[in-house]
Amino acid sequence: MSSANVIEIFSSVQGEGKYLGYRQIFVRLADCNLNCAYCDTNFVRADFCKVETSAGSMTFREIKNPLDAAQVAEIIKIFASEVSTQAVSFTGGEPLLNWEFIGDVASAINDTKIFLETNGTLCNEFKKISEAVDIVSMDIKLPSVVGKNLFELHRKFLLAAQGKDLYVKIVVTGKTTSEEFSTAINLLASVNEEIPLILQPVTPVRKISATSAEEILSLQAAALRKLKNVRVIPQTHKFIDVP
Ligand code: SF4
Repeated sequence: MSSANVIEIFSSVQGEGKYLGYRQIFVRLADCNLNCAYCDTNFVRADFCKVETSAGSMTFREIKNPLDAAQVAEIIKIFASEVSTQAVSFTGGEPLLNWEFIGDVASAINDTKIFLETNGTLCNEFKKISEAVDIVSMDIKLPSVVGKNLFELHRKFLLAAQGKDLYVKIVVTGKTTSEEFSTAINLLASVNEEIPLILQPVTPVRKISATSAEEILSLQAAALRKLKNVRVIPQTHKFIDVP
């Protein structure tokens, strides 16, 4: 059975995207293959994983890393018995860097939905566990936030995730250009115009500025010319100060 460096495991509300507000169990895995300008997530490997003492208690105990998949599956089962849970969300960092671990945990908890929050760049890794995944929240990362063009990787990922409960999220910042946004929308429309798109106004961090309300409405209107389902949803978990 595989193991992974895990940052934290807890039960909370999903704060972003299509499943906003649903109760989920979050498994945050270490490491990421990108370096987004707006990233405020701790994904650096740690000696100890923080595990909630009970689902939603917001108090934590520490377990030495790495954790093996059976250990994590047991924690998930306990949390799921304490609070009815819509899905287990594997997040990061980029969780697919630990695809084998996700697959092993998923096969040990086969009565709970598996939700994958991914940056949509590791198509081959996704294919190895796609059977185990129910819901895919995939980011399209714009060049203005990652400093490089990832559109071809995103296209391959979108094609591989067809047939899943898939939605796409684009974080919009004050640096988003109409050209890169248009490329992203055309890419999505060329794969499937029915894939829901969430425009998420950035939560300002470091040197990243927010975009204006007018700009968000204008981008949504532009996206709706090509796509069927485009919603604007900011991060909400920070409003109520939950992880
Ligand atoms: S992909 Fe996600 S975790 Fe990785 S750097 Fe970007 S925002 Fe942070």
